[in-house]
Amino acid sequence: MTTIDYERLYINGDWTAPTTGERITVHSAATEVNIGSVPEAKEGDIDAAVAAARIAFDDPQGWAHWTPQRRGEALERFAAALEARGVDMARRVSQQNGMPVSLAEQFEAGFPPVLLRYYSELAAGGHEDVRQGMMGKQSLVLRGPIGVVAAIVPWNVPQAITFLKVAPALAAGCTVVLKPAPETVLDAFLMAEAALAAGLPAGVLNVVPAGREVGAYLVEHPGVDKVSFTGSTAAGRSIAAKCGQLLRPVTLELGGKSAAIVLDDADLGSSLESFFASTLLNNGQICWLGTRVLAPKSRYNEIVDTITDMASSLIIGDPLDAATQVGPLVSERQRQRVEGYIANGKNEGGRITSGGGRPANQGRGWYVEPTIFADVDRKATIAQEEIFGPVLSIIPYENDQDAVDVANDTEYGLGGSVWTADPERGAQFARRVRTGTIGVNGYSNDPFSPFGGIKSSGMGRELGPEGLMPFQQLKTIYLDKENSLS
Ligand code: NAD
Repeated sequence: MTTIDYERLYINGDWTAPTTGERITVHSAATEVNIGSVPEAKEGDIDAAVAAARIAFDDPQGWAHWTPQRRGEALERFAAALEARGVDMARRVSQQNGMPVSLAEQFEAGFPPVLLRYYSELAAGGHEDVRQGMMGKQSLVLRGPIGVVAAIVPWNVPQAITFLKVAPALAAGCTVVLKPAPETVLDAFLMAEAALAAGLPAGVLNVVPAGREVGAYLVEHPGVDKVSFTGSTAAGRSIAAKCGQLLRPVTLELGGKSAAIVLDDADLGSSLESFFASTLLNNGQICWLGTRVLAPKSRYNEIVDTITDMASSLIIGDPLDAATQVGPLVSERQRQRVEGYIANGKNEGGRITSGGGRPANQGRGWYVEPTIFADVDRKATIAQEEIFGPVLSIIPYENDQDAVDVANDTEYGLGGSVWTADPERGAQFARRVRTGTIGVNGYSNDPFSPFGGIKSSGMGRELGPEGLMPFQQLKTIYLDKENSLS
């Protein structure tokens, strides 16, 4: 089988020789075989990438000083170059992390060009305004780019998450050093090919694949002005501490353990597709999934049966097969982690109603069956900790107030969903859940609206107009004139 191998890093607008011979090898989640490799960036490569981004940002004729319209034209070329590689992009992501290809086509191929166009248009909508002051004089309020951005992303939805950062950053006039996760580097290099084909100016976007130590070096680099991180809460805490010390602005999108709250009037059977998408999508490897299912005691057994039947009927298979609903996990390590949680759930008294093991029809690949636990204690480990695999815990509740209490009894606050026959009741209920985002009878984040978490799920927002602001810096010029500008 041919493998996808790169010899150089995308730094300063071109393929650049790495400073060491170290390499990252990528394996197929479904077959476990080697599918490609790239150079591993080390400190010297980070220095080169940050220097390139710094020079590009500081150039008085450069990217930061282009009109938003001119940047928009370059980003449109980038979007088109990504679209031209969409089929390949979706397949690469599927092979690396096990994401079913039908989902990868939407999230990983479809979403990035949409975000580039959305933020280009938003940034073109104006970056300065004149305000009439209280004292009779006027002020000019400018929203300029914040500078060199270190963007650090995880492996679970690598391209979509990359563009939650890269699209608004570039549209705002920032330059970017992107550090993809070692598990998913082949898609990042395809993105680099698209950036090169689109003719993005040198240094505007740089890609340095590496592990956490080199990631930490990037976070602290003196040439970086802003850090935008998506990943685990543990890594987020360490990054936040460093940024606190440096007084460096940081956005953190971290872990979650969201509640899918089934109200006593819900007809779950008629919304199973939506319920699956809100709780088990991408083999359970999404931060906002509702993996704590809260079910009313009055209808508990019936709801457990409905969810059990749904999980048992899912099509588990090759992620490259369009019919597959559940693929493998990203790595052996991740499967061990998930299996550890399943063992823990059993020890703590959870009752498995579906799954619990490895699928019998998959001889290789890091598969875990979609697993449903009933009768889970609200304080149990599997009810509280993020598993990041296809495992749902169904927790019984007494009444609406009890459901709100259980939903809020978590260190996280990222996603969530409310299931009900009465959407108005669902929206009222959703207001009572302490979380950054929540859906009624479904959950899908929308480019126009802010996404992000509270508590241990993070700080700041991505998407929507709010997702542009972290990449902008405000400057106010108090004018020495009265009513002089219009
Ligand atoms: P991770 O935190 O181990 O790694 C994420 C990225 O950060 C990787 O690129 C990694 O190399 C890098 N990294 C790790 N430690 C670092 C450090 N100290 N300094 C700098 N860089 C560092 O997470 P993961 O296992 O790759 O991803 C899964 C986690 O990401 C889950 O907890 C999931 O909930 C979270 N996640 C959150 C969101 C969100 O939007 N809130 C989205 C996707 C994933």
